Amino acid sequence: METCSRKIHFCYGHRVMNHESKCATLHGHNGNLWIHARPLQGLDEIGRVVDFSVLKEKIGSWVDEHWDHTTILFKDDVDTCKLVEQAPGFKKPFILPTNPTAENMANYLLREICPKLLTEYKIEVFKVTLYETENCFAEAML
Ligand SMILES: [Zn+2]
Repeated sequence: METCSRKIHFCYGHRVMNHESKCATLHGHNGNLWIHARPLQGLDEIGRVVDFSVLKEKIGSWVDEHWDHTTILFKDDVDTCKLVEQAPGFKKPFILPTNPTAENMANYLLREICPKLLTEYKIEVFKVTLYETENCFAEAML
């Protein structure tokens, strides 16, 4: 089966609650997402899964608005959420239902966000890869 993939870059802050070492501290990443899509009913008339620009416009815009230059925090991390909300110049944190590890962020995007953004297209995002650094990535797939 054919697939197509689009890279989306964003910057974010987070902390991993209960992490055993330095990731328990608020810190930031230059993240790179790879959004992998497949067709639900074969390729389109001109031989594409979907135009690459659709993934950029739909998912890239969501990431831009909600995650780029945002602190992403676990809903149970109440004290840090309060701290970030009160810090001068800070954008409201994005609250995840889970700890903001690369695995959980990829999974949230895959299952909660991508399906809602692509209802008008005959495709599905079946895998999301999040590079937290150049050397480390996590993936979530259907
Ligand atoms: Zn981190």
